[in-house]
Amino acid sequence: MIEQMLSDTSLLKTQGFINGQWVSAENGAEFDVVNPASNEVIARVADLGGKETKQAIELAHDAMAVWSKKTPKEKSAVLRKWFDLVMENKDDLAKIMTLEQGKIFAEARGEVIYGASYIEWFAEEAKRIYGDVLPSTSTDRRSLVIKQPIGVVGAITPWNFPVAMITRKVAPALAAGCSIVLKPAAETPLSALALAELAQRAGIPSGMFNVVPGVAAAEIGEQLTGHSLVKKVTFTGSTRVGKILMAQAAQTVKRTSMELGGNAPVLVFDDADMDKAVEGALAAKFRNAGQTCICANRILVQSGVYEEFVSKYTEKVQAFVVGNGLAEKSTMGPLITRIAVENVSSLVEDALSKGAKLTAGGDNSGAEGGYFFQPTVIRDADQSMRIAKEEVFGPVAPIFRFDTEEEAVAMANDTEFGLAAYLFTKDQSRSWRISERLDYGMVGVNETAISSEVIPFGGVKESGQGREGSKYGLEDYLEMKYVCLGDI
Ligand code: ADP
Repeated sequence: MIEQMLSDTSLLKTQGFINGQWVSAENGAEFDVVNPASNEVIARVADLGGKETKQAIELAHDAMAVWSKKTPKEKSAVLRKWFDLVMENKDDLAKIMTLEQGKIFAEARGEVIYGASYIEWFAEEAKRIYGDVLPSTSTDRRSLVIKQPIGVVGAITPWNFPVAMITRKVAPALAAGCSIVLKPAAETPLSALALAELAQRAGIPSGMFNVVPGVAAAEIGEQLTGHSLVKKVTFTGSTRVGKILMAQAAQTVKRTSMELGGNAPVLVFDDADMDKAVEGALAAKFRNAGQTCICANRILVQSGVYEEFVSKYTEKVQAFVVGNGLAEKSTMGPLITRIAVENVSSLVEDALSKGAKLTAGGDNSGAEGGYFFQPTVIRDADQSMRIAKEEVFGPVAPIFRFDTEEEAVAMANDTEFGLAAYLFTKDQSRSWRISERLDYGMVGVNETAISSEVIPFGGVKESGQGREGSKYGLEDYLEMKYVCLGDI
């Protein structure tokens, strides 16, 4: 039972959170939350739908009036309090996360700290929303730009980062003065609800942060993208769903931020520090069992170091211990669902049938009872394989070979995605050259742990639009208003 594992059992919430109230579905419906490491039901959560979402949006709209009476400094203090509470409760939040999502406890704890950093950052940024005074075109006029909250925000988040993908949206929305209605992934609602409980304790007014858990994603999504009171839709998830939401939001011309799929390449050049490249490509691939949108999807290695890289990389991968994320010895947890395991298996089969060779893993043996897949390395991957084009979202590292810089850049850019790319080289001028030529929103040079609250996270091409975090992140939640003062 989860309760017995938590220091503060009141963090385990199984109802929706609307206008400061914990609510059940009108018809009493609930859905199961399953631990992917054991396939056991760990909680049943209120299954809300379109009707409750509509109510939440309307109440969220009213709540903004209360929040707007606070000064930036007062808003900042409330957000800061929320940050403090998340940090104080990080072990409980991490346990809840491991139980519903599967990632190992150390990673879950890391995510809570990372997620909290967005709250801290935007608590500070809340105090730094400036307008502008423009040059006048005549002596009796003054022209101003003021920044105002865009309005109610509809947010939809995925299961792979059950805390950070939420704080990245909720914290800037609140800092900008917007209320927010969130639909968390049905696989991981408990982390979202625990965050709401802490937000309420911190003094975030009723209606400013609402959570609508439910399995009827399309129905909830239609409200969030269609209701006239919602002014902005922010989404993290697949490109397929992102396109649906953008099309829906277009009907009422809502602003959208989309953080969608990735197909990150790691380019390893002959002159790279080989140990750093191996470590970097390892972390970028296997974090969260390969289920992150900036995970290394394709490892491209120059011919001169190909054999050395494959053998060092394989050796490291073979050392992973797959198991329940709460077991101390585990270094990698399960995948989120059985379907995820099947998808990964089929990508591996496809690659092997087209001439790739396995050097590690390759199946779901070794850990019973949950949705496990062994960390896998495939050598001699090429562009004909599905794995070259599709987001793997699992612990499979395909290693491709290239000869020239030109070829590496062409292979790296040969995808409709453009989120993150990484390269390893000791040559400074090559670092610049390649960074500029990669069609990606984020590039890591000799580094793959590139994300933090201070950087603008986001992609280009079909990986999305908009940036989360950083000094740019607040703009997505603000509207610019021009005011002309005449007769002066
Ligand atoms: P993933 O592959 O990470 O599960 P999805 O894009 O399927 O990515 O899911 C991300 C989020 O989008 C989840 O909260 C999911 O419930 C939600 N979602 C899925 N389909 C729709 C839809 N048609 N409308 C609104 N939200 C959706």
